Amino acid sequence: MDCIFCKIINKEIPSVFLYEDDMVVAFKDINPQAPVHFLIIPKEHIESNDDINDENSHIIAHVFKIAKKLAKENGLESGYRIVNNCKEDGGQTVNHIHFHVLGGRQMLWPPG
Ligand code: AMP
Ligand code: ZN
Repeated sequence: MDCIFCKIINKEIPSVFLYEDDMVVAFKDINPQAPVHFLIIPKEHIESNDDINDENSHIIAHVFKIAKKLAKENGLESGYRIVNNCKEDGGQTVNHIHFHVLGGRQMLWPPG
């Protein structure tokens, strides 16, 4: 499968890893939109939020638990934003579900 994030998981494409366990990996976004910007992705190739189901939703819960841990470790005590872009209108450009964790500056609303 020609998926850039599966290749990052398999270390076929280099990236700056922040975390890895049996379910997820986290790595720095190559085009950061905030002083701290990393992505957390499941190792399982789930395409988008529309593909979450009873079998895989525990992995997504785990993503949020790891987001909290990594936010603390990366100095985001005063807060952060978790973003999932879903499919075309959501602005998803990589079709392997991923959660952006952004922080280190004041986030704005609406996001645009
Ligand atoms: P999205 O637009 O929500 O699909 O987000 C995709 C994100 O993946 C963007 O923020 C990109 O900067 C990021 N990205 C794409 N390729 C890489 C890569 N090789 N390493 C790290 N981040 C990447
Ligand atoms: Zn993938």
